[in-house]
Amino acid sequence: MELLDGKALAATIKQEVKDSVPEGARPALAVVQVGEDPASSVYIRSKVRSCEECGFDSQHVHLEEGIRQAELLKTLRKLNDDQSVHGLLLQLPLPQHLDPDEAIRTIEPIKDVDGFHPENLGLLVSGQPRFVPCTPLGIRELLVRNRIDIAGKRVVVLGRSIVVGKPLALLFALKGEGGDATVSICHSRTKNLGEHAASADILVAAMGKPGLVTGDMVKEGAVVVDVGINRVPDPSKKKGYRLVGDVDFESVAPKVSHITPVPGGVGPMTVAMLMASTLKAYSLQVASPNAVR
Ligand code: NAD
Repeated sequence: MELLDGKALAATIKQEVKDSVPEGARPALAVVQVGEDPASSVYIRSKVRSCEECGFDSQHVHLEEGIRQAELLKTLRKLNDDQSVHGLLLQLPLPQHLDPDEAIRTIEPIKDVDGFHPENLGLLVSGQPRFVPCTPLGIRELLVRNRIDIAGKRVVVLGRSIVVGKPLALLFALKGEGGDATVSICHSRTKNLGEHAASADILVAAMGKPGLVTGDMVKEGAVVVDVGINRVPDPSKKKGYRLVGDVDFESVAPKVSHITPVPGGVGPMTVAMLMASTLKAYSLQVASPNAVR
């Protein structure tokens, strides 16, 4: 069994991104946060730190929990119009009273580095991807750079969210490198989940259910990608919790050819691909603006 080290590869990719920034250029990412979700704050710190590592500017726009939808949209429009901002993302989840879909539709598609805007999702569906959600991009990159064959393989994706499951399934089904797979999507209403999972050459778990995938659900020699990041209470830890994936590592690892650890697998790859997408946004807006609109 080989561990797929996302942490090390993410560092390599960030260095490559840094080396590709044109002389004197300052690509810039703005991250909008509403409220105080603790996991969001951790992710945003990591995004801001990665921007520094890549030689980017970053802006963390922190709005208070009770902000009204109209004020959120106004903030996003202001950042759309700010020519010194190239990548713009809204950290999810939002507080219950806000509408994330309308907010995402407000982001200028050419700055939508998270790839959640319907225009960017439509481009992915139509086989002309521009900005693709960063976690699926990171998973594909992790497999491709570790020389794992995807073409013709049976991929089973557990989870159908717009953040991970659905765009990942579309990416793997695209024509060309990193694609050409035969893909199934499973979800909370899937019958016989274990049978589907056990048929996979490449199994991706993105359900947000700690340890749900166990050894008996995995084919001998499969590649297993664990996307889950779940906080489970652990009084022995200083923070009072530890992070676990959706895969029961102990029972699954001995059966597989490759597996991603949690933490240190998909998580760091997500941030690295966000940096690559921010540089792409910069290039589309500044280096070749006529190609964009
Ligand atoms: P989500 O809650 O939006 O979606 C979960 C999906 O799993 C749904 O489509 C649901 O139908 C499916 N599901 C839930 N229970 C199931 C079950 N018992 N059987 C089959 N399917 C089931 O979550 P999400 O945003 O896609 O995130 C999933 C997990 O990935 C979470 O743990 C999240 O923290 C993690 N995540 C990690 C990264 C990263 O960078 N590593 C990025 C995004 C999300």
